[in-house]
Amino acid sequence: MFAIDHAATALLVKRRYPTVPIAPVLIAVQAMELAWVVLNYLGVERTTTGPVVRSVADIQLAYMPYSHSVVTAASAGVVTWLILELGFGRPLLGRAVGLGIVSHLVLDLLTHARDIVLWPGLASPRLGLGLYDAAPLAAFVLEMVYGIVCWRVYRGGRGLLALIVLANLANLSFFSPAIPGPESFLAGRPPLLVTLILVQIVVTLVLVGGLARRTTPAVSPAVGRVAGIGA
Ligand SMILES: [Zn+2]
Repeated sequence: MFAIDHAATALLVKRRYPTVPIAPVLIAVQAMELAWVVLNYLGVERTTTGPVVRSVADIQLAYMPYSHSVVTAASAGVVTWLILELGFGRPLLGRAVGLGIVSHLVLDLLTHARDIVLWPGLASPRLGLGLYDAAPLAAFVLEMVYGIVCWRVYRGGRGLLALIVLANLANLSFFSPAIPGPESFLAGRPPLLVTLILVQIVVTLVLVGGLARRTTPAVSPAVGRVAGIGA
């Protein structure tokens, strides 16, 4: 899934855990992608492109068993949750962050080509519903609708909705070979692709976080006590 809709997932988590600050949740929903960026820069994980890039189907996430495997994502989510809950006495923060980390895996499994392994060192099976490969426009619609649902559940303001819709539209050329766009410059330039995604991650997290704060879900004193504000 593209950066804006991973970032929008933080809205769902924030709605579920309104007393938890949104910043750590935003980082959590993109933790796997940030790890992917670092590991690509270090040459540990690898991304390749076709000779021409006309859509997301021409970009291969060739090797990313550490940042994007079922076991690494699930264990990172559980370990972070337990450390925050048992080690730091922050149960709600732990659950929100753990959920955020695992959400990334679930959303990528829904959209990616078959490029997600079960754990590092196991070459197959490779998981992913394959929308980016087989039906990229369906992936575009799914991502747009999902982002709007996140906004709706959060009950965000118009600015947040505009951001989600416009950022999804900005990605449209990646979902259709018939629509020209900046992806054509990425052919044979994986480091440029990684940097573009890093920029998208940072910009969408900052904007979603900033606009979400304008419509922070109300927490009544009773709910606050039950939820353990400050815990
Ligand atoms: Zn990802």
